Amino acid sequence: MRATVATIGSHSALQILKGAKDEGLRTLLLCIKGREELYERFGLADSMITIKNVEDLLDPKIQEKLLDEDAIIVPHGTLISGGKLDEFEKHFRPKVFGNRFIFKWEYDRELKDRILKEAGIRIPQRFSPSDSIDRPVIVKLPGAEGGRGYFVARDSKDLERKLKSFSQKGLLKRGEDEEIFVQEYIVGVTVYPHYFYSPLNSKVELLGCDRRYETNVDGMGRIGAKDQLELDLVPTFRVVGNIPIVLRESILMEVFQAGEGFVKASKKLVKPGIIGPFCLEMVCDEEGRLFTFEFSGRIVAGTNLFVNGSPYSDLLYAEPMSMGRRIAREIREAAQNGKLTEVTT
Ligand code: AMP
Repeated sequence: MRATVATIGSHSALQILKGAKDEGLRTLLLCIKGREELYERFGLADSMITIKNVEDLLDPKIQEKLLDEDAIIVPHGTLISGGKLDEFEKHFRPKVFGNRFIFKWEYDRELKDRILKEAGIRIPQRFSPSDSIDRPVIVKLPGAEGGRGYFVARDSKDLERKLKSFSQKGLLKRGEDEEIFVQEYIVGVTVYPHYFYSPLNSKVELLGCDRRYETNVDGMGRIGAKDQLELDLVPTFRVVGNIPIVLRESILMEVFQAGEGFVKASKKLVKPGIIGPFCLEMVCDEEGRLFTFEFSGRIVAGTNLFVNGSPYSDLLYAEPMSMGRRIAREIREAAQNGKLTEVTT
């Protein structure tokens, strides 16, 4: 059997390479120029191909090199945010671990909304900017991602006022109003469970959970409400890092049901369905209800917390099992049993 685990040098690359090594697989790093030294320090890549940027993956010469190495690309956040997903779907010839067709569903808010609805899980209510809005909402402007360019509004009036101010500052262009995504803001604790779906044994595993630490919303609690008002503070949602969280055991069943609902929906809407790692972004409100507002159809950076396993992976495996290693194990088992086509697209 010859399979080489390849990934782009960023995001969760170190974890992915380490997991592949632990499973005895060869590794190849697509390293963005200038970052070679960082990855050499960890010594986890058996070979490196230097690239200028993510778009280089579409270069036929680079693809040829990957094919020569029997490389299986493990996608992560950098690939998704690198754009050109349509071209990647169609023109990238090497094997991709996971479902390459689901990445645009993650990127496109309309598609994302559709698949989460299909999953039959509790999601925050969505509004059109012209609706009469009677509760707090979070507003995601066109092109905003990773929590940047989001803001909250109290109701319709507040939303109208804030949108007007954005337009005046040139932050919202004519015609973009249609693309504004307005969603009920759920007050509560955010939790991001890390799932792995194995097509080889048709099971959903929970391998970890984190919450993101976001500035300034997570820092606002350090200042009293009165001072917040005086300082005119408004919450923003830029991710700074990740914090591990262990969920109350009574919540776990609902977490599994949500994961399984998502797998089912993905099989229906984006064939062949989710393969391997995915994450649902949830908020737990004061009544203990979980609302899912986002998904990622690939490994998330929060799994970097658990390079040596997590409380959940420890319950499932008698050895340290990071998400990176779990991916490599699925690849190894699929390759050994002639089933690579079941875990790659
Ligand atoms: P996203 O880009 O959708 O992952 O959102 C970035 C951050 O905004 C999340 O990590 C949450 O803190 C916050 N957020 C997004 N949507 C909601 C929501 N509907 N209710 C509460 N917080 C949200």
